[in-house]
Amino acid sequence: MEYKDLRESMVRTQLIPRGIKDKRVLDAMGRVPRHLFAGHLTAAEAYSDMALPIGEGQTISQPYMVAVMTELLELKGTEKVLEIGTGSGYQAAVLAELSRDVYTIERVAALGELVKKRFQDLSYTNIHSMVGDGTLGWPEEAPFDRIIITAAAPEIPEPLIAQLADGGIIVVPVGGLYSQQLLKTRKSGNNLVNEYHTLCVFVPLIGQYGWKKE
Ligand code: SAM
Repeated sequence: MEYKDLRESMVRTQLIPRGIKDKRVLDAMGRVPRHLFAGHLTAAEAYSDMALPIGEGQTISQPYMVAVMTELLELKGTEKVLEIGTGSGYQAAVLAELSRDVYTIERVAALGELVKKRFQDLSYTNIHSMVGDGTLGWPEEAPFDRIIITAAAPEIPEPLIAQLADGGIIVVPVGGLYSQQLLKTRKSGNNLVNEYHTLCVFVPLIGQYGWKKE
């Protein structure tokens, strides 16, 4: 099967039947070449309905989870987005199709370096990446209209709440080390309005405002 067909099939069989409705999200996931972010995996594996290993003990999220989290961000195209947990760079590439600029932070240096080159090779000029502890955010670039954390957090890291613009949205898997629930939080002045969504399982967010040990 051609890559384009694998992507169309992924959208048709994994995303639409499970309720993903935002046409911009479906179109972006039909465009981004997921197999180029999936390391040594085969194309069939890359487009399959599961999270997969990408090395350094980390994973590329299941396509459906990427779609749900992206849809919850309500992107219109003008936003400045912060992602914590660059991993393979796939989620950042989907976000880059749907927003103005993406700032993404990865804790594991080997992954962060690999992905920087990948973004260059694929001409994603609106993705800015760095290696560091994402629980501290990226203060020099704040405020952000949207923040997405693609690792499991015990709670939303304080610095990220501070770096979210008024009216902005954070999407994050919160809970224990072995299972979490997607939390969508909207900042409204001094208030945070929480909505809980699907159950999920992510690798831990490790850092000063995350989990302390691997
Ligand atoms: N978004 C990624 C993708 O599209 O491939 C998947 C992310 S993977 C599920 C979680 C990533 O979060 C891992 O690469 C892990 O190293 C990273 N991570 C964990 N704690 C972090 C932290 N404090 N700051 C930045 N990255 C972190």
